[in-house]
Amino acid sequence: MSKTTNNNGSNNKNNDSSDSDSPLHYLMWFRRDLRIHDNTALAALCERANEDNASVSAIFFLTPEQWQQHDTSLVQVDHIARTLPILAKDLKSQLNITLTVQLCPSFSDCIESLTSLCKDNDISCVMANHEYEGNEIDRDEALSEQLAKDDIEFVRWHDQCNLPPLSITTNDGDSMYKVFTPFYKKWRHTLDVSTIQMHDAPAVDCDDKIELKSSKNSAYTADDIKALSEEMLGDYQKTLQKEDSLQHIDIKAQLTAARDAYPAGESAACQRLDEFVADDINDYDVSRDVPHLHATSQLSAYLTIGTISPRLCYLQASKVQEKLHGNDGDNEDIDRWISELAWRDFYRHVLIDKPNLIRHKAYKEDTDTKVSWSYDEEDFQAWCTGKTGVPLVDAAMRCLNATGFMHNRLRMVTAMFLTKDLLIDWRLGERYFMQQLIDGDFASNNGGWQWSASTGTDSAPYFRIMNPFSQGSTHDKKAIFIKTWLPELKDIPASTLHSEDKMRKALAKGGKFADIDYPVPMVEHKSARKLAIAEFKKE
Ligand code: FAD
Repeated sequence: MSKTTNNNGSNNKNNDSSDSDSPLHYLMWFRRDLRIHDNTALAALCERANEDNASVSAIFFLTPEQWQQHDTSLVQVDHIARTLPILAKDLKSQLNITLTVQLCPSFSDCIESLTSLCKDNDISCVMANHEYEGNEIDRDEALSEQLAKDDIEFVRWHDQCNLPPLSITTNDGDSMYKVFTPFYKKWRHTLDVSTIQMHDAPAVDCDDKIELKSSKNSAYTADDIKALSEEMLGDYQKTLQKEDSLQHIDIKAQLTAARDAYPAGESAACQRLDEFVADDINDYDVSRDVPHLHATSQLSAYLTIGTISPRLCYLQASKVQEKLHGNDGDNEDIDRWISELAWRDFYRHVLIDKPNLIRHKAYKEDTDTKVSWSYDEEDFQAWCTGKTGVPLVDAAMRCLNATGFMHNRLRMVTAMFLTKDLLIDWRLGERYFMQQLIDGDFASNNGGWQWSASTGTDSAPYFRIMNPFSQGSTHDKKAIFIKTWLPELKDIPASTLHSEDKMRKALAKGGKFADIDYPVPMVEHKSARKLAIAEFKKE
């Protein structure tokens, strides 16, 4: 894996142990990589520490201002908070490293806090894995310069993707692919299972265990980390509860559902991967589009905060493929799942290639001026609350609001409904998803929204607009998913739920289900589709 360093990787004067008798001290800065196994920066730092007989400490900053800025959902912050004490225990017992968790109310505090930490604790080398979003890149650059002034090395490693961003380029030059399929072919060709390396950190030999001298808003033991994280979570919850647009969410119920569905920690994530590749992956290609089957891996929440590495996912799937089908064996189910991991890489590579995406600009820039997006507050609220009168859309939105998760097929259906049937700016939907999703991830979310809105790379052609009723009849034939989330529709036959005309008749005054408390479809799909196409066709 490639790295970025502020002094070209040469050992600085602090690392020359002959200069002084005091032991060297290095720092691992955890961000979206809350795991021990196959953590590129952690492995590199521990190896280097053992060569230099240095001790290693670790830090994680709780950054509520940053979460607010990125619209990070409460369920994701809770997932991070639940993961930290487990990480602290694992680091201590397996690698001899103490994790300090420190509250940094303002994002820019991180630079100051980290610089002071290094100075106060004689730290001469900091390692971290790259983050690819806007102010994270700026923060790292500023910190890198700041640390270099004090002769402190700051090394960042590419770790979030199977292949480092911008390493997959077109054959005729060095441009980034604009569509997925050729990217995927090259990605697959480049990723050689026999050479892919897992970066597992060795335990740190140095006995000099150091508790970082730090500010009062810090915690070191798993129990203290739990208490500090919970306190911060409570404050963040209060901040979100003040948002008018989120009043319809039962936050406590959403937290309970997410905690049940996503036990925290690296072992839980690895167990989920093991179970998935042992069983569900063999049926993935067929079942992945049926929401009520829960036939996908549901690993995204773990990949997003880094409790599992994408390389481990790829390797495990490839091993199953090799075992079942030999070296040249093809298996549509496993291939399909691996291609989903490649989509995740693809959107990260695209993000680095087009930094404007971070500022929520459309990938196809002309659509920002051409399409007259709507900002109708009532329409948007109907979508957010699951009251559009379109059963599959409403069931999906209510599932998201109740659990913090939505199935991939339904993300496409709801996103297309918002951007094409209601012609609402995709940026509003993108933000709302981030506020709710436990797996909210800028690159994948932005990519998925721009795909659905036909403004992005490789996006759905503007004239191919999903009909949310026929999507229901294809992917939720018996309306099992719809009726789970919209129990008020339990007596309506699936054939009616999947037909706009029949629904309008059934719910109209005098209709068979007129007394049910459920709205008639808020737009007529056929005419909305025509309007959307006309918008995109405009010169
Ligand atoms: P699986 O089907 O088991 O796939 C395995 C892994 O591959 C996933 O965990 C995920 O990391 C990756 N993956 C799968 N599909 C995609 C995809 N289309 N794009 C990128 N990566 C993919 N995914 C997120 O992780 N975070 C988001 O915020 C997010 N927002 C989305 C918004 C929209 C509008 C759309 C259409 C898709 C979005 N996705 C997002 C992609 C996808 O919906 C989820 O990754 C998937 O539903 C997670 O479920 P899973 O882990 O069971 O996936």
